[in-house]
Amino acid sequence: MSNLSTWVSVPANSDFSIHNLPFGIFSAGRKKTRVGVAIGTQILDLYALAELGHFDGIGVAKKIFDNDYLNDFMALGKPVTKAVRERVQQLLSDENSPLKNAAGIFEKQSEATMHLPVKVRDYTDFYSSIEHATNVGKMFRDPENALLPNWKHLPVGYHGRASSIVVSGTDIRRPKGQIVPKGETQPIHAPCRLLDFELEMAFLISKPTSLGDTVSTADAEDHIFGFVLFNDWSARDIQKWEYIPLGPFLGKSFASSISPWVVTLEALEPFRVEGYKQDPPVLPYLQYEGFKNIDIHLEVAIEPEGVPEKTVCRSNYKYMYWNMVQQLAHHTVNGCNLNTGDMMASGTISGKDESAFGSMLELSWAGTKKLTMNDGSTRVFLQDNDTVIMRGHAEKNGIRVGFGEVRGKVVK
Ligand code: CA
Repeated sequence: MSNLSTWVSVPANSDFSIHNLPFGIFSAGRKKTRVGVAIGTQILDLYALAELGHFDGIGVAKKIFDNDYLNDFMALGKPVTKAVRERVQQLLSDENSPLKNAAGIFEKQSEATMHLPVKVRDYTDFYSSIEHATNVGKMFRDPENALLPNWKHLPVGYHGRASSIVVSGTDIRRPKGQIVPKGETQPIHAPCRLLDFELEMAFLISKPTSLGDTVSTADAEDHIFGFVLFNDWSARDIQKWEYIPLGPFLGKSFASSISPWVVTLEALEPFRVEGYKQDPPVLPYLQYEGFKNIDIHLEVAIEPEGVPEKTVCRSNYKYMYWNMVQQLAHHTVNGCNLNTGDMMASGTISGKDESAFGSMLELSWAGTKKLTMNDGSTRVFLQDNDTVIMRGHAEKNGIRVGFGEVRGKVVK
């Protein structure tokens, strides 16, 4: 694997190495939306490859790649999607590749537009970082008993809103709603004053299930196509007033942003690590074997208008207490069916150190600590015209697999 190289020019430290080959939806010049694969600073046009016959015999129709979304491709299932990725990897690494002389198969990323990669069917948000759940519990409940009694027994989650999931680069309008100003008891209708980001990752469902089916932890990975970076924008003041007793609603549903390139589970294989030792032991349907956590470095930066960005958080996807296969086993334990295009977000990913806290709520400790930007201005929550940028990559033995970035600017 580490001997794999490509004849395509790939800058050192590129997220999009020959080991990665993430899928996305792009348009460029006269090309309408198509399925592409990122390599270095370029996009390989899979529809153009299909037209040249490079996927013949794999069981994928050409029109799958002439598409607004990856859903049809993901629905083909692992044997086909893995075979397509391996064919691309072979074509990009073979010194005698027929692609070297093919015209019109590459587009520059800098000249292409990236689109929402999937039509999101249903969106679920978990709450699976023990550090995040502990921090929130300490701030708003009991510092001594921060976790609620259920937390170590099941991956807590809620059903979110799929319609407002947007691709990186989309402006985020500051939401309005009901808030109760500090020191008062009655709500007013006003723009959110405590706007936050949440550093998360999300995985996408490829293989669906039927109503009544459950998915075991052993089979869960068959249903997971790949991952994106996920910014779950949050209006803390709207959330605080509305959430009792049914949980998150309008304080969350106004927007979530995702990165445009979907990194496959196959590309993340080399970066698996052991997870938390879970104590108390979990129920049998949540037990699992093997390494199900993934070592992915994550960063969040804030860029005020016209000011260089400031990194405010460094965290890691490996800090998840509940892993992806446990989340999926729990999601389906009641027989709820999965659809191709379902999106499962991790919940805010915080580490132990305060530099690894994955939200402004935690970084500013509920507004009591100020973060200093590169122009000397300070933040406790996000201001208008602030851009939030999240990045993620895995690296081991000289192999780098990254996600690029997800960015969004807060506008009035
Ligand atoms: Ca969240």
